[in-house]
Amino acid sequence: MTQASPSRRGLVWFEQDLRLHDNPALHAASHDCDALVYLFCVDPDWWQPRHWQCRRMSTHRARFLAESLNKLNTSLQTRDRALCVLDGPVIVSLEKVIQQFTISDIYCNLTGSVYQTQMLALLRKQFPHLRIHTHDGDVLWKTQQLPFALNDLPAHFTPFRKQVETLDIDSPLPVPERLPPALHGAQHSMVLSQYESTNIQRSPFDGGADAATEHLQWYFSGDRAARYKETRNALDGWENSSKFSPWLALGTLSAKQIVLALRHYEAEHGANESTYWIFFELLWREYFKWYARRHGKHLFRFRGLAASPPLTSFYPERFRAWSEGTTPYPIVNACMRQLNETGYMSNRGRQLVASCLIHELKLDWRYGAAYFEQQLIDYDVASNWGNWQYIAGVGADPRGGRHFNLSKQAERYDPEGRFVQHWKGQEHAGPADSRDAADWPIMSDDT
Ligand code: FAD
Repeated sequence: MTQASPSRRGLVWFEQDLRLHDNPALHAASHDCDALVYLFCVDPDWWQPRHWQCRRMSTHRARFLAESLNKLNTSLQTRDRALCVLDGPVIVSLEKVIQQFTISDIYCNLTGSVYQTQMLALLRKQFPHLRIHTHDGDVLWKTQQLPFALNDLPAHFTPFRKQVETLDIDSPLPVPERLPPALHGAQHSMVLSQYESTNIQRSPFDGGADAATEHLQWYFSGDRAARYKETRNALDGWENSSKFSPWLALGTLSAKQIVLALRHYEAEHGANESTYWIFFELLWREYFKWYARRHGKHLFRFRGLAASPPLTSFYPERFRAWSEGTTPYPIVNACMRQLNETGYMSNRGRQLVASCLIHELKLDWRYGAAYFEQQLIDYDVASNWGNWQYIAGVGADPRGGRHFNLSKQAERYDPEGRFVQHWKGQEHAGPADSRDAADWPIMSDDT
C-alpha cells in the first residue's frame, strides 16, 4: 500500500450514500488523504416550484433526509469527525469548500443523475488541477465488471438480467479503519433544521444507517423473505414487500448489504422462488441505475427513448385531482392519499396511479414523475423516471407501455375494498373535469 501524501486534502461529497460502511468513495478518500471535508450540500431550490409544477422535496422527504444526516453526523462524531452540511446552490458550496480548504482531491459515488455529472463537469472546468475520483458505490457491480460496455446496455430488462445475474458480487466494504481528521467543525443546515423535529403522522420509516440495519435484520429474521413473492403486490401492510427502498434511496443501506443478508438467509433456511424474487427486484433497481447513466438527460425527455412523443397533454384540473386523490377512480385516490400522508406507496399502487395518469387522464407522464419526486421518501432518479418511462411506453418496456384495467386491479388486489375504505378513496371520488370542451360547467349527472 502506498503512503498518503502529507499535503493531500480531500473532499468527500456525500449525496445518496449517507453511510460510513460499504462506501467506496469514503474508503478511497480515507486511504489517499490525511485530512478531509465530509460534505453534504442542501440546495434551498429543492423547496421551490420548478418544472412540471412540483417541488423536489416534500416535508416527508425533508424529514427523512434530516434524520439520516443527523445520524451520519453522529457516526462521524463518535470517531471524532464531523459532517459539514452547507445550504446554497450545490456548485457554490462545492467551490467555496474547495477554495477555503485548498482541496486537491474530490471523491464521490456516482448516483446516475445528470445533475451530478454536470456539477463534476463544472468543477473540472473551474479547477483544472482538482483530481476527481468517482466510484460505483450505489450498484452491485463496478462498470468494468459488467459483461458489456455502458453504451451497449441491453434495451430491455430481461437480456440485462440474463447477462448479470450469475456474476459474482463483492462483499460490502467495512467502515474505514482510519478516517482522516475533519478540516472543519460540524455544521448543520439551517434549511433542513426546521424539519428535524417535524412530527409527521403515519410515516413508519426512521432515517439513518442504524435504523436501516435494524430493519434489514428484522426483515430476514422471520419467514417474510420466504413468502415475498406472494405478498409483494399487496397495496398496504408493513410485512408485505421488504420496504428497503427509502434506506436504499439515501444510501443508509446498500444493495450489497441486502444481497449478503439474503444469501445468509438462504444458506440457513433454504432458497425458494420468493428469495430469488428479492434478488430479481434488486436487479430491476440495478438495471435502472445503469439505464440512467446510459441515457442521461433523455430520462426526462417527453418522448424518452421513443421515436415520437406519446399522445398525452396537460390538463391542470385533472392533475390536481390526481395528486390530491379526488379522481373518479377510488383505488387511485386511496393510493395517492396514502402517498401524501406517508411518503410511501406500494409498487402495485405506483403502477396503477401512473397508468391512470397516462392512459385515463391523458396527462403528460413527466408531471406524474415530478410529483413522485416531490413526495416519495424513497425517491431515486433512476428508478422513478425509468419506471415512469416504462409505463408511458417511451422507455425500456418491450411491450410499449402498460395500461392497467383499474376496476379489475381493484377487484384483484383489494377484493373487500378495505384499502380503499381505509384511505377514503371512494369518499373523495369526483369528476376529472368540471367544464366540458366548450367551457360549459359539467353537472355531476354527466360524469
Ligand atoms: P420490494 O418489492 O421489497 O423490492 C425490493 C427492492 O427492489 C426495492 O426496495 C427496490 O430497490 C427494488 N425494486 C423493486 N421493484 C422495482 C422497480 N420496479 N424498479 C426499480 N427497483 C425496484 N423505487 C424507488 O426506489 N424509488 C423511486 O423513486 C421509484 N419510483 C417508482 C415509480 C413508478 C411509477 C413505479 C411503477 C415504480 C417505482 N419504484 C421506485 C419501484 C418500486 O415501486 C419501489 O422500489 C418499491 O415499491 C419499494 O418498496 P419495497 O422496498 O418494499 O420493494
